[in-house]
Amino acid sequence: MNEPRPVIVAGNWKMNSSPGDAGRLAAEIARVTELPGVTRVLCPPYVCLPAVKDALAGSSVAVGAQNVHGEQAGAYTGEVSAAMLTGLATWCIVGHSERRRDQGETDEDVARKLVRCAEHGLRPIMCVGEQLAERQSGRAEATVRRQLTQTIAELLRLGSGLAADLVIAYEPVWAIGTGLTARGSDAAAMAQLIRSVLADSGVAGIDPAGVPVLYGGSVTSAAIAEFLAEAEIDGALVGGASLKVDEMAGIVARAGMTAAARLGTR
Ligand code: PEP
Repeated sequence: MNEPRPVIVAGNWKMNSSPGDAGRLAAEIARVTELPGVTRVLCPPYVCLPAVKDALAGSSVAVGAQNVHGEQAGAYTGEVSAAMLTGLATWCIVGHSERRRDQGETDEDVARKLVRCAEHGLRPIMCVGEQLAERQSGRAEATVRRQLTQTIAELLRLGSGLAADLVIAYEPVWAIGTGLTARGSDAAAMAQLIRSVLADSGVAGIDPAGVPVLYGGSVTSAAIAEFLAEAEIDGALVGGASLKVDEMAGIVARAGMTAAARLGTR
């Protein structure tokens, strides 16, 4: 039998907190979410990475960046390279819909960022997901399929592949920060589609069945159960609620139940 996939809860703090507050918040979240079996990751803004890294030293909570530039170095004012993140972060969100929307990031950009992550040992959380109009017109699956296939095509063009430690977050854009959530069954169907696209792509280096797929979009301690009840879903990428200690405690507690069930420890 295949190894069970890990259960992962990643918090995306977006443009919130400050270098002065971030360490305390991270330490508090680490304290209330200490549970065996759940992989926890906190992704603060770049300027908070040193404080969060220091605060989490000695805990098993990993630190992630929210983005990385697609080039190695150069004249890219205001940007941060993967090399610069070395020693500060071990994970990195790539292709978040807010960056696709606000910075015009394309699937090709996402591919370059994935290459940089692989070069520098950053575990990528690659975000995919459809807009509301795409879901309403029955094109949600086609959108996610296109995001994946175009990213993979660009990776192959660059002479690269998908990292063995890839994590994918399915985040319907209409559910991010809106208080709306997808249906658990729709998220599970999308996770199945994601793994089948990975399998069909024939890209080397990954085991599609083993790729963790997270759900993201207005996840709270109340909403998480519906997603973790689905065997295809392996955790959550949490935005707004990841800044709230009690919410993170509740989300990780529920994730712990799924982790224990998968590991056969309950
Ligand atoms: C996110 O930032 O990826 C996210 C899902 O945000 P929220 O949980 O606030 O919808």
